[in-house]
Amino acid sequence: MAHQRGGTLNRTGGADLHLHSTHSDGTLEPTRLVELCAGQGLEALSLTDHDTVSGVEEAREAGRRLGIRVISGVELSAEFRGHEIHLLGYGFDPRDPALLSALERYRGERARRAERIVARLNALGVPLKLEQVSTMAGARALGRPHLADALLRGGMVSSFQEAFEKYLNPGRPAFVSRSRFSLEEAREVMDGAGGVLVLAHPHLNLSSANIRLLLEAGIDGLEAVHPLLKPSQRRELETLASGRGLPATGGSDCHGPGRGPVRLGSLRVPLETVDRIDAGRGSIGSGARASGRQP
Ligand code: AMP
Ligand code: FE
Ligand code: FE
Ligand code: ZN
Repeated sequence: MAHQRGGTLNRTGGADLHLHSTHSDGTLEPTRLVELCAGQGLEALSLTDHDTVSGVEEAREAGRRLGIRVISGVELSAEFRGHEIHLLGYGFDPRDPALLSALERYRGERARRAERIVARLNALGVPLKLEQVSTMAGARALGRPHLADALLRGGMVSSFQEAFEKYLNPGRPAFVSRSRFSLEEAREVMDGAGGVLVLAHPHLNLSSANIRLLLEAGIDGLEAVHPLLKPSQRRELETLASGRGLPATGGSDCHGPGRGPVRLGSLRVPLETVDRIDAGRGSIGSGARASGRQP
């Protein structure tokens, strides 16, 4: 929908189903994100932090207060045919014990990886201390952006981007990989928690052929609207999803100020997509799913 308001074109309504907060590598608290979404006229959102659901309850509370629908969300790092992929979980029970324990395990891995990255940096002569990193991330999902921030704050690089280009990107000397969900484990955990599993920003990680193979392996939806997807890729993904009766999701993947362009409000999917996710819990995807548990 687009409405004329005060002479400027304002997009209103719809949902942003891909947002990161300070609970992982974003810079805004969940409440602030929900307020910004409400200010942009969005009707629904999902907070999809990396490997944690600790911000979901706060987002829901803010959503209730501001009259905006909030569905539970998370972004899992997973592996498919040797490629890192990101899977968005939606509509699950955020208190599910098996989900919480799997996420805790991967957050532990993230913390240990941060230690290894710091050790590599030190060996390269970069005097970063672990305390400079972990005090900022607290018990939250620690990622390379936290290391990039610490390097910048310590004056060891001149920009956030330089930290990635010089040290943290794959192939750079301080890069350390970490273990990730297998597709099967992600499937099992999300089924158990009563949610759906959507492939995030598909073409960023997979070829078109591998996207099709992943669909055959069993996935409940495709993220078709994302700032880094081209219009032709979006069309391909929307066609693939609709041909299989699956929802095409999307959002801004906003990480907040200091993390690249703040696109919150500029990328939306119809509210109907949220209804389709809700309707699909426990029934779409591979067809071998248990009937959905209602949180
Ligand atoms: P991690 O999950 O710790 O591997 O860190 C991945 C996160 O770092 C992504 O979700 C992005 O938010 C961010 N990121 C990855 N690559 C870059 C890059 N080249 N420049 C800036 N941010 C990046
Ligand atoms: Fe991120
Ligand atoms: Fe991602
Ligand atoms: Zn993301």
